[in-house]
Amino acid sequence: MAYNDDEFEAIARQVELIGQRLSVPIQPRGEEGIAEVLFRAACENGFRKTSTFAGILGLGRREMTPQSLAREHLDATRLADFLGTRTRTDVESVIYPKLDRFGNRIRFFGRDVALKGFFTSHRRIAPRSLADNLTLKAVWGVAGLSFDPDTRETLLTRCPECGERASYTIGIALELCPGCYRKEVLVDFRKYPQPIAEADDNEALDFALALINPRLSIEQLDFNILHACLAGHGPGELFQLISHMAVAWENSLNTAWLVSPAAQALATASRAILDWPYGMGRFSEAIIRRNPMRQDPSTLAYAVCQSVGRDLRIRVLGAFQAGRRSRK
Ligand SMILES: [Zn+2]
Repeated sequence: MAYNDDEFEAIARQVELIGQRLSVPIQPRGEEGIAEVLFRAACENGFRKTSTFAGILGLGRREMTPQSLAREHLDATRLADFLGTRTRTDVESVIYPKLDRFGNRIRFFGRDVALKGFFTSHRRIAPRSLADNLTLKAVWGVAGLSFDPDTRETLLTRCPECGERASYTIGIALELCPGCYRKEVLVDFRKYPQPIAEADDNEALDFALALINPRLSIEQLDFNILHACLAGHGPGELFQLISHMAVAWENSLNTAWLVSPAAQALATASRAILDWPYGMGRFSEAIIRRNPMRQDPSTLAYAVCQSVGRDLRIRVLGAFQAGRRSRK
């Protein structure tokens, strides 16, 4: 068998790293973030707890959730050597760059986002997608989504058999429920396909999903359909605004507090942005009308703006105030 230079170098590197790297080398995949790579590394190498890696990687905390790991100052070379990647730079795609000193803002696949509340703390899974390709996608951890943006399959948030949430901590296998495994029952998430999420405004839903879907590059996004005053805002900021509007829309009727809105709510919020400024005015009036007893317009406006920058916040608050005035 003939090797080209790249393959030869990759093999030489993996031989050189014996004793420092995991026995089964782990090559990051395009859909994965840092939490997903380390979780798979634990599963494939027979480590029951991902927290075992914390000391080896010099992490300040032992939580292995996307949020905790995004705050860490990860040493890329140390991580690459530990995983045994083909080249030293192969981990760059999974480490979210920090946009400020404290990591309050990060770059998620090219999108600048506020970290607080951006990720869920438990693993969620799209079973059909996992059956096609045994990989956890980082986008399943985005709290503003309740379904896979590619297939629109609703994410499993709890094991269908035992009702437990799957953590990023206990690594058995990507497809098995750790709670059931503890009771010596094998529950394979791939055998529980979930419904496909739908909305009555596909254009608006597609727009919201494109803002955050790692599969689409920023260059592929069409900002020309936005009102001129919104066109300068980044996709991450716009997605966080839309998802928080959608959460507020859901929770204006629900008694149980939701953090991940359904597709219909996301499409409704996205339409308000696409039809700016009138769409936003209509949205603010409609959400207040949905439950006037519970909706304090100021609180609501601040809730939807919690992750956006000052300029956009001023614009959204203005639209809410206009909606409020029109009701009087
Ligand atoms: Zn279970």
